[in-house]
Amino acid sequence: MATKAAPKKGATKVNLKSELKNRFGFASFKDEQQQIIQSILGGTDTFVIMPTGGGKSLCYQLPALVSEGVALVISPLIALMKNQVDLVRSYSNDDSIAHFMNSSLNKGQLKEVKEDLMKGGTKLLYVAPETLTKAANVEFLKTLPISFIAVDEAHCISEWGHDFRPEYRKIRQIVEEIDPSLNIIALTATATPKVQDDIQKNLELKKPNIFISSFNRTNLHYSIVPKKGQEKTIRHMVKFIKGMKGKSGIIYTLNRKSTEDLATLLEANGVKAVAYHAGLDAKTRAKRQDLFLMGDVDVIVATIAFGMGIDKPDIRFVIHYNLPKSIENYYQETGRAGRDGLEGKCVLYFSNKDLQKLEHLMRQKPLSEREMGTQLIDEMVAYSESSNCRRKVLLHYFGEEYDDSACNEKCDNCQNPKEKIDVKDTVFCVLTAIKQLKEKFAVTYVVDIVLGRNNSQIQSFKHDQLKCFSNGAEFEMDDHFWFSLVRQMMIEGLIQKDIEEYGVLKLTKTGKDFLKKPYTLKLALNHKFEDTDDEGGEDYAEAKSEPSALDPELLQDLMDLRKKVATEKGVQPWVVFDENSLNEMATMYPTSVEELSKISGVSEGKARKYGRKFLAHIDDYVDANNVVKPEDFVMKSVVNKSGKKVYIIQSIDKKIPLEDIASGKSMKMDELFQEMETIVQSGTKLDIDYTLEDFVDEYDVEDIFEYFNDSDSGDIDEAFDTLQENDISLEQIQLVRIKYLSEVAN
Ligand SMILES: [Zn+2]
Repeated sequence: MATKAAPKKGATKVNLKSELKNRFGFASFKDEQQQIIQSILGGTDTFVIMPTGGGKSLCYQLPALVSEGVALVISPLIALMKNQVDLVRSYSNDDSIAHFMNSSLNKGQLKEVKEDLMKGGTKLLYVAPETLTKAANVEFLKTLPISFIAVDEAHCISEWGHDFRPEYRKIRQIVEEIDPSLNIIALTATATPKVQDDIQKNLELKKPNIFISSFNRTNLHYSIVPKKGQEKTIRHMVKFIKGMKGKSGIIYTLNRKSTEDLATLLEANGVKAVAYHAGLDAKTRAKRQDLFLMGDVDVIVATIAFGMGIDKPDIRFVIHYNLPKSIENYYQETGRAGRDGLEGKCVLYFSNKDLQKLEHLMRQKPLSEREMGTQLIDEMVAYSESSNCRRKVLLHYFGEEYDDSACNEKCDNCQNPKEKIDVKDTVFCVLTAIKQLKEKFAVTYVVDIVLGRNNSQIQSFKHDQLKCFSNGAEFEMDDHFWFSLVRQMMIEGLIQKDIEEYGVLKLTKTGKDFLKKPYTLKLALNHKFEDTDDEGGEDYAEAKSEPSALDPELLQDLMDLRKKVATEKGVQPWVVFDENSLNEMATMYPTSVEELSKISGVSEGKARKYGRKFLAHIDDYVDANNVVKPEDFVMKSVVNKSGKKVYIIQSIDKKIPLEDIASGKSMKMDELFQEMETIVQSGTKLDIDYTLEDFVDEYDVEDIFEYFNDSDSGDIDEAFDTLQENDISLEQIQLVRIKYLSEVAN
């Protein structure tokens, strides 16, 4: 049988301050660290909720080092275990002081670890929950003198958290097997009241001391921007990043592909950016991470895989290009900004399209996960739509009360407060309904009652006979109003949502008091994000430019000029610049070759070849009319840089058959032709003579070529109308037009 020391109380007399200095080199404890350490050394179960960067690990490392026996640290991330162990070892001259046990060790390594443990010099043993549930390992651990159990990332216990790990729910059972009297310290950087409750119940913490640090990050500025189409959003983003002048930032997106696309687009617009995601090989990832850490690139565009274990204190902004899956995720990710306590800006682009995407992903999950996931997304949406102080809503979510007068305009809603309206009567109406429904129904049902909407459920409960039924109809407000009112009432503490009972609304004391004696109450209602003109799709290279010109007078001038230039050069006008490009010129007023080549459909070559007269004209026009040029003259699509296009250009250079080029990127032929057209239209030559005859016979090529030489519009459908009687297909026309543009226009 196991022999075990009883080490728990032995270490209470140590001088913690000098231990801190000697072992870790710090002169003083942060916040509640010392009380936490005393709690666990004093033999009490301890529960620590501390935001990332608050010095959480020290809370179990120091007690482990000064206690007899070895502390078991349960941690979910195998990748970070080694880092943790290395860190502890760096404070000591004996490597056996810390070890880890997980599936990454081979038999020989595991044997060494066990030998060290039996010698007794090891103070910290990191274990993965999977390792802990193996019977042989439990038997071995029983033979060791164990000082206490630390459960790191304890939120993994709860299905209500954002990274649930089923093995975590077995921890208590294992502790019972090893030694039921062992003390537990549970730690997490994020936990809503519901998750906190789950952790305590599941680990069966005995009268724990609970330490909750404030989640308020006073130096961070939060804002939400409606996402209105990809091009506008990217333009907005580029302008924002350029305004930050060389400071570091992270952009989070939904998937791997969009990290690459976005990084390429930012690069094309003069922002030093790289993509980062789990699909890259380790070497590339390490290299890009280094570039970012060293400040050689300013922006890293990443999936949520990025940031775990990254400690860069001077990240000045975190942008969410897509809606995060939960407030926990949002909080963690924005939390990477401004670790040094200085400036940190957090911008989230919100669109209903993104929301639908998330909901769509959720529909593919198993039912249990879906329900929870949907609720987490709902909370995220409510946060985004709220016109309350962002801080107040965030902290409310984590169970903290916050007086928003302290925000100091560090959020968009405090900077531009929405007008508040008197909601005394409508609040009264909702509270009455909740009361008459005996606090047994969730928000949708309550709103249906208030608005007097009859349905079978309401009828079966005979709730249409309640006094409050239809009481709110007289206010003639829409659903958005009522849902947002209920949300605000929660934040104001008049009601609360019982999460254990599927969101049933309950009255708080404040709410009951209000019912007895209603008073004037002014609240700002939620923002309403209208559906945006987002074109969908993640291929930013395809983002269309604005269809209409800002300056019709200039546009007319440019059209005339185009005609003149075309005549001089003996080409069709559309060959010089297409209409979209002219529209954009009459909006952006380019006056240098560099600016002109940022117009969509204009390459640098084309700008030099045809642009001189256009630039001179625009320059005169700008002077004569005192035009103020738009500041955000930055947008450039990545026609020449996007990966697919580069691939096509290179493949055609190598004279690879078009079918093979298409299948190489799993494109359909028409997609390939479309891409090729965009390439030549923006001024890059494609020599397709090597393959043209596979598609069009020689005489037809000549006919089509001639046709375009005479065509005023260059329009492909018009060409088809004329040429189809000669048995020429649309596809053939398209190909020859590519040849034509390549040879004549470029
Ligand atoms: Zn605020």
